[in-house]
Amino acid sequence: MNSFNDFGLAEPILRALTEERYVTPTPIQSQTVPLLLAGRDVVGIAQTGTGKTAAFALPILNRLAANRVRPQPKTCRVLVLSPTRELSGQILDSFRAYGRHLRIQTALAIGGVSMGAQVRSLLNGVDVLVATPGRLLDLVQSNALRLTGVEMFVLDEADRMLDMGFIRDIRKIVAKLPAQRQTLLFSATMPADIAELARTMLKDPAKVAVTPVASTAERIAQRVIHVDRGNKAATLSQLLRTENVGRALVFTRTKHGADKVVRGLNKDGIAAEAIHGNKSQNQRERVLAAFRDGSVRTLVATDIAARGIDVDGISHVFNFDLPNIPETYVHRIGRTARAGAEGIAISLCSHDERPFLRDIEKLIRMAIPASGQAAQTEAPRNGGQRPPQQHAHGSRRNGQDRGPDNRQDRGQSRGRRRGDRNKPRGGADRPHQEHQSQQRGARPAQPRPVASTQPIGGDFANIAFMQPR
Ligand code: AMP
Repeated sequence: MNSFNDFGLAEPILRALTEERYVTPTPIQSQTVPLLLAGRDVVGIAQTGTGKTAAFALPILNRLAANRVRPQPKTCRVLVLSPTRELSGQILDSFRAYGRHLRIQTALAIGGVSMGAQVRSLLNGVDVLVATPGRLLDLVQSNALRLTGVEMFVLDEADRMLDMGFIRDIRKIVAKLPAQRQTLLFSATMPADIAELARTMLKDPAKVAVTPVASTAERIAQRVIHVDRGNKAATLSQLLRTENVGRALVFTRTKHGADKVVRGLNKDGIAAEAIHGNKSQNQRERVLAAFRDGSVRTLVATDIAARGIDVDGISHVFNFDLPNIPETYVHRIGRTARAGAEGIAISLCSHDERPFLRDIEKLIRMAIPASGQAAQTEAPRNGGQRPPQQHAHGSRRNGQDRGPDNRQDRGQSRGRRRGDRNKPRGGADRPHQEHQSQQRGARPAQPRPVASTQPIGGDFANIAFMQPR
């Protein structure tokens, strides 16, 4: 599909898209929208930045527009579950933006803010509810919400949900949904446990996939610097001084680590702020606003806190710590190449992190060019190039899968506009789970399945390889 008009969406939705300056559907939209309009359940492999929110929001809104019934009190017709407060807020913004001419009722149910307003917003029922799992269950348990009226259910960022320990909550929620519903599951990767979850949740799902993890990594200039743990702080300060940094996101494995890095940078005269689950909502909002308006150019974050921060123009991602889960590396560096932009990712690798580096290189199917102490002994196998025979499907052959880069006015991204909107933002629904998932400990280095090129098993064996049309 080359135009949104080809989908047969209702006129008020098309009008909103024109106002959003969306001209051409992204590959995930071209694939997903017709399937959802036809009533199919869909499993989508797509990362943030591919336009996946519109891929599910547009057909959902179309269905709401075509069948205008009043939601019953304390029910919702559409339930979207997302792992973080930020992402939930952004998804709600998208529904409101694309549905602005439809007069639909929407609500947000996220943790970290009082439940009273959320309970009131659900009293008369809503069309679309976007929620994090913990708060949603709290609302159901306190009889503020019944899930019996859900016609469409979206589970977004399913792999993150699993990482954050939400799987039990999700199963509980799914058990309360009507059997007769349309279900969509989106995930950046498709490990076996997500495939299993999908098998139990969806009926004969159509499978779509774009931008497998490996191709995200391809368009980012990556480097690894081998350095003693004790020299990481000085190396980071040096890099932040010498690199031409627009906005930098620095990742640490722990909240404590994030604070320590900020202290070190501040001592070196570099302005930086930390964002993680221990920060209050006010602190988070203040820090994010400063990062967006450019008054703070370096943000130090834990993985979970960083997830869902929608800020465009991140020129550099620094991995102060290498993640022990290789997919996390791809999520991290993807923050600098959103909506098709290129970026730079620099990882500081201490001796004990080398097994993590090997795991990462296996996953992205390329050796990351290295410098520093170990660079001589661990020179990039094959010069940092992807072996030609391992060229991942869906990688950038025609530029089609590089994310939505067809907006007419690139200067006015939704990220920045979103940032202007005044709405609750926060991090993980349950901050203690951030701690939990950070404490997963060092995994032994083992080969991990490569989402883009290896069969995942069962019904999902073929999905990761579909070419964007
Ligand atoms: P998402 O992957 O849903 O987070 O979307 C990433 C960004 O792409 C958001 O800022 C969207 O506003 C933008 N976007 C989504 N679809 C399109 C499109 N068809 N054309 C231009 N921009 C888009």
